Amino acid sequence: MSLSDIREQCEKCTKCVLSQTRTNIVFGDGNENAKLMFVGEAPGKNEDLQGIPFVGAAGKLLNKYLDAVGIPREAVYIANILKCRPPENRDPLPEEEDACISYLDAQIEEIKPAMIICLGRIAAKRLIKSDFAITKERGQWFERNGYRIMAIYHPAALIYDNNKKEVTYDDFKMLKSEYDKL
Ligand code: URA
Repeated sequence: MSLSDIREQCEKCTKCVLSQTRTNIVFGDGNENAKLMFVGEAPGKNEDLQGIPFVGAAGKLLNKYLDAVGIPREAVYIANILKCRPPENRDPLPEEEDACISYLDAQIEEIKPAMIICLGRIAAKRLIKSDFAITKERGQWFERNGYRIMAIYHPAALIYDNNKKEVTYDDFKMLKSEYDKL
């Protein structure tokens, strides 16, 4: 299935209640041949309005880190666990993740990235392990279904926390050195 076929399915999707309140699906954005794929949690208000992931404050911070280590945003692909915005940006419900995850799985299989980076605990719990501890286990590589995968703090968690900013910069530098080996 091509990415545009998967997108079409998402556009028609009514598998969970979030389909009733979305303005747009937020399918994913970036390089369809990316070696590096980021996976966030779910669209926020700006993403729902524009249909593009990570365009709000968290996205601007993500762009800053990519810039700082010299990874062009155009080189990567970015998607979320959920394609539709949860009301008031609440955490995704398990049944919403269950309804939506096959779209992300299909995107990953199409793109076949060399490395997947979970942005925050929600993505890490879904893609790495259900008891993932972000403070302890961020920055460590795991293998899932043949993919190299790691988690870092969600950019939104960094906005008011300088300690997390420092470790995240270290994680991005490590990521860049792995990226350069590809
Ligand atoms: N936070 C996310 O997890 N995803 C987005 O697309 C925007 C903010």
